[in-house]
Amino acid sequence: MSNSRYLESCPIGCTAALVPSDIVLSEGALLYCQECGQLISQCGVERYWQSMQEFDDPRGTLPTADSGERRSRQNRKRLGKILLLLEKPAQEISLLDVGCSSGAFLSTAAALGFRAQGVEPAAKAAQSAIQTGLRVHIGTLHEARFPAQHFDAVTLFEVIEHIKDTITLLNECHRIMRPGGVLMIGTGNTDSWTAAFMKSRWRYFQINHHGGHVSFFNPYSLRLLAARAGFTLEAVETRNVHFYEKGDVAPALYRTAKIVTELLNFPAQLLGKGQDMLAVLRPG
Ligand SMILES: [Zn+2]
Repeated sequence: MSNSRYLESCPIGCTAALVPSDIVLSEGALLYCQECGQLISQCGVERYWQSMQEFDDPRGTLPTADSGERRSRQNRKRLGKILLLLEKPAQEISLLDVGCSSGAFLSTAAALGFRAQGVEPAAKAAQSAIQTGLRVHIGTLHEARFPAQHFDAVTLFEVIEHIKDTITLLNECHRIMRPGGVLMIGTGNTDSWTAAFMKSRWRYFQINHHGGHVSFFNPYSLRLLAARAGFTLEAVETRNVHFYEKGDVAPALYRTAKIVTELLNFPAQLLGKGQDMLAVLRPG
């Protein structure tokens, strides 16, 4: 049991064979689904749960004040998008953030007037959200047993790359959403210039840097996932290019690469080659 792989088949529900890719990590090569292009970690069950625990931190996923401010700006933008899509005031929008961690997105939503609540299985992170007055259920989405057609908006940020049975998760999102609602998903993009250039050096792939990252999407696998769970993928946008980690290469090379990647950010956005994907799904 302990040596078995956490992910034994394509989390999008494909039946095609999984073959080794040229991205080789300490757990072995990422496996490539020949049907949807999903990349899948060979990490074992035990290592998976251990790495998920390492990252259950009461501070959630906000390491510095600088990235905190960037995150908060990004959250306001995403909430603005939800307002535009639903065409009603925040006070009338019932929102659920699945995998809310210590509640950074939820607190921005609450400040803007959304009727927001979250669900989070990592107990320490969830507790710290609750302590700040946010409404958070500790446990998985299924365990929260929300009523059917309850939410106008459901968000899944940095969640689906951790999940084994993504279809079941999306089916549950579909059940609790009102018709005409919005499901917003944020995850990494393996079809990005960052992934193509950095391969196994991309920290996004590394379980030691990102606890529990085991399932890696591209725009096509995301579209297939949406369709198989009864959603229509309305839009996917990608952004950001990143070639080196600070400290991994000489400072001069790092600075040069930073300038190059900043120039590539805009074309990457246009061509769907950015490393961060944001998708809007509607129950179809
Ligand atoms: Zn697949």
